[in-house]
Amino acid sequence: MFHIGCHLSPSAGWLAMGQTAKSINASTFQFFTRNPRGSKAKAIDPDDAAALVAFLQENRFGAVVAHAPYTINPCSKDERTREFALQTMADDLLRMEHLPGNYYNFHPGSHTGLGTEAGIALIAQTLNTILQPQQRTVVLLETMAGKGTEVGGRFEELRAILDRVELLGHMGVCLDTCHVSDAGYDIVNDLDGVLTEFDRIIGLDKLKAIHINDSLNPLGAKKDRHAKIGEGFLGVEAFQRIINHPALKDLPFVLETPNELDGYAREIELLRQLREA
Ligand code: FE
Ligand code: FE
Ligand code: ZN
Repeated sequence: MFHIGCHLSPSAGWLAMGQTAKSINASTFQFFTRNPRGSKAKAIDPDDAAALVAFLQENRFGAVVAHAPYTINPCSKDERTREFALQTMADDLLRMEHLPGNYYNFHPGSHTGLGTEAGIALIAQTLNTILQPQQRTVVLLETMAGKGTEVGGRFEELRAILDRVELLGHMGVCLDTCHVSDAGYDIVNDLDGVLTEFDRIIGLDKLKAIHINDSLNPLGAKKDRHAKIGEGFLGVEAFQRIINHPALKDLPFVLETPNELDGYAREIELLRQLREA
């Protein structure tokens, strides 16, 4: 099954996201668990959550992806910032239990001067505090562009985090095509080589979702500016190879391109046309 979707707003409720996704021929989607600036989350409506669970099953959706606020930073040099990230993530994981069997993706963080090693240790420490043996959500580390002091631009850094996590079975990785290209991984000319390296360092069994974005900047730019599919340095042919690659084709693909709903609908249509049977 080809599960393609886009980032959607939860402002009209959780079931509404499923209905919106279906209306643009998507069969997965991503949403922020709360305001992306990380303010207090709206209370969960258990009936709305249950209605979405039923909807996803009836419509044979793939796994959906909740995205942590991108402003939280579990490896900041500021202790209160780290504590806020921990509380936010712990609360998000409780909320995700209303949507069992899906993904919770987060940006590993920026070490803000502490150094990559220290950042890795802090991220793992946060995960070891919040992960619960009985949880039904898989937490995903997102591959990052490596801008500023970001941790997670190298596969080795994600591996080092995973190596320190006790409940490794609750962990996975989400590969963002814009980010890995910006980080210097040439998925346009050497997709097989990049995936071989991912497999050697992290393990393809840990790869759970793809953020499918073009990049406004060339290979290795470390900028993290998303472009619409085909309007950046990656190009349509690269995406055709990505969505049809045997190691990737069964994963959920989520668009985070600069679009409104009609633009997402067109991108989904394009990618469905490029998908081989
Ligand atoms: Fe992200
Ligand atoms: Fe992303
Ligand atoms: Zn990005």
